Amino acid sequence: MHDIIIIGAGTAGLTAAIYACRANKSVLVLEKITYGGQIINTHKIENYPAAPHISGVDFANQLYNQATELGAEVEFAEVSAVKKEKSSLVVKTPDETYQAKAIIIATGSAERHLGLPNEEELIGRGISYCATCDGNFFKNKDVVVNGGGNTAFWDALYLADLAKTVTIIHRRDTFRADEALVDKVKAKKNVKFITSANIAELIPEDGKLTKIKLDTGKEIKTDGLFVAIGRTPANDAFKDLVELDEQGYIKSDETCRTSTEGVFVAGDSRNKPLHQLVTAASDGAIAATAAVEYINQERN
Ligand code: NAP
Repeated sequence: MHDIIIIGAGTAGLTAAIYACRANKSVLVLEKITYGGQIINTHKIENYPAAPHISGVDFANQLYNQATELGAEVEFAEVSAVKKEKSSLVVKTPDETYQAKAIIIATGSAERHLGLPNEEELIGRGISYCATCDGNFFKNKDVVVNGGGNTAFWDALYLADLAKTVTIIHRRDTFRADEALVDKVKAKKNVKFITSANIAELIPEDGKLTKIKLDTGKEIKTDGLFVAIGRTPANDAFKDLVELDEQGYIKSDETCRTSTEGVFVAGDSRNKPLHQLVTAASDGAIAATAAVEYINQERN
């Protein structure tokens, strides 16, 4: 029996691990793929207080080392279900069953896909959801970035230094991305904009993306498409355990408590107005503190 099982080793989950370990609780972190979460796809973090120039990978490595040095155990396995029993929570992965006094869900979110025919087959064959992971394959090529938020603009900025041209396609004529970032991208000579347009068709040749067709009828030749149209919460495994809102985010109060006793939530899986690195870290601290209080109260 662990005191706390944290599901997800991103910023929220690893910060929760730091706080729970420092409160002298035994902590197991279960992670599906690799630690760090979404931030590892960011080449430069500019808005985390007092750390203006750190890369996403360095941030994740430091966070992971900090949590494990404090005693957090990390195992790599996908959680398929969590069940509330009388005095514990039972967490299942394909090979193991674990028990904890409290759990913190910090599974974050996954990239939203366009939902177009051919999209899934063309992933890695011209379509990518991560500019810092795949940008290097498009040196001196023509690429398209779809989206109007911060991710799309960070991607465009990064790709502008690698690719020959970057075309941002956005469905509206105003951008959700921060103004300062938009200005930086607009200053790049090789970035073009197409607004008030949606991608309607992905056209491959010999199994690779070569062209996209817009709903305006325009066709654009391209070597690559970076889709950056937001994210959806990764809460499927918890839909029978806790209450979700209509978009699939886990409902919680300001102490990160969910509708189920002993179950807490932190980071992008949670319904809240601002999904940022700093609020993920903040949630991790709050959720761990609430979980520790819950365990201590149960014991008394
Ligand atoms: P986002 O802010 O939700 O933006 C998604 C963009 O995609 C929006 O422009 C949206 O258009 C568009 N979109 C959504 N669904 C679409 C569809 N089906 N077809 C075409 N376009 C679609 O997502 P994000 O950019 O990934 O950012 C997520 C969060 O992380 C935000 O809070 C963001 O500020 C934060 N973030 C911060 C940083 C940073 O500050 N360093 C970096 C990256 C992300 P509409 O505008 O028309 O809705």
